[in-house]
Amino acid sequence: MRHVPFSFELHPARSPLIAQQLPGRIARLAAAGPEFMSVTYGAGGSSQGASLDVLRLLIDHHPEVRTMAHLTCVGSTVQGTHETVRTFLDAGVHSFLAVRGDLPAGFSEGAFPGDLRSGAELVQLIHAVQHERTPWREVPLPGTRGITLDRDGRERIVIAVAAFANGHPSSRSVEQDIDTLLAKQAAGANLAITQLFFHADDYFRLLDRARAAGVEFPILPGIMPVTTLPALARSLELSGEPMPSDLAAALDAETTSEGQREVGIDYAARLAERLVEGGAPGIHLYTRNLHETPLAVLARAAFIDATRYSELVAPDFAAAPLP
Ligand code: FAD
Repeated sequence: MRHVPFSFELHPARSPLIAQQLPGRIARLAAAGPEFMSVTYGAGGSSQGASLDVLRLLIDHHPEVRTMAHLTCVGSTVQGTHETVRTFLDAGVHSFLAVRGDLPAGFSEGAFPGDLRSGAELVQLIHAVQHERTPWREVPLPGTRGITLDRDGRERIVIAVAAFANGHPSSRSVEQDIDTLLAKQAAGANLAITQLFFHADDYFRLLDRARAAGVEFPILPGIMPVTTLPALARSLELSGEPMPSDLAAALDAETTSEGQREVGIDYAARLAERLVEGGAPGIHLYTRNLHETPLAVLARAAFIDATRYSELVAPDFAAAPLP
């Protein structure tokens, strides 16, 4: 079985029940051997405490997993964001995904709230805070041996940014999106993770354009396994992606939830395979705080062993953790 780096995105728990179930789900995801696990952050800092809770769960109970904290800057002051970065560093996080955050209702791209106006500016600020705290060391350019390792196999501090296979919804042109990626690179970002998308060609087009323009960091494709029609509608609403008519038709043709789940897992696994075969550096799975579906996608794509998958989803997994 080939080694394909994969990573997972988690959210702060949105209900007491999920908060209770999350440690068990995280334990199963962590035991699959991800390259890193990232935790989202509410725009405006609304979820700071809850994001930190999930990150601390990872740091305290799964120290073998590298953590990546999403941070947003929309509506924040430089001083407030500075303090937030320090708080996360104090908690033991050292990799970040710096995103601007969506504009609150009523604001336009021209009238931006807060001191920091873009993901690139947030990258610069995170660099500055890290620089104050630790002796500066060069962050080597990305190697090919893994996303969080440099060319010599040493761990590197990751400051990731967002990329969009089909363009950011408010972008005026493809060129503007590529310019934004170049600005993020100039600010010191060393990895990009894409918004979810459904067709491999969209990713390869972005990759070709970015490389031709001089973007050097790895661009990790983000995949959300979608196993119901309402979930598909929600994912399109959140991402602004165009409707994937092939997936919608395949889900619609199934009459049972098991059948739809199979369709969604198979679709995501085939997409992951195509991406990796075409040169993607790995895959980033949007888990929606679930474990069975993302693990099933990895097993279907043969990125994890089928036996290991059965162990990870077994009901008694938590009672008898695997080595
Ligand atoms: P930027 O790169 O700063 O800008 C995005 C785009 O907007 C640019 O490409 C440009 O085309 C356009 N643009 C920017 N400024 C202007 C302007 N003045 N006029 C016209 N167009 C302009 N959101 C959260 O709230 N929390 C999260 O944890 C989170 N995690 C994410 C993880 C990933 C992998 C991705 C892809 C997105 C995530 N988001 C998250 C969503 C993100 O905050 C939004 O997509 C946001 O609208 C853009 O953030 P950015 O960092 O890409 O912004």
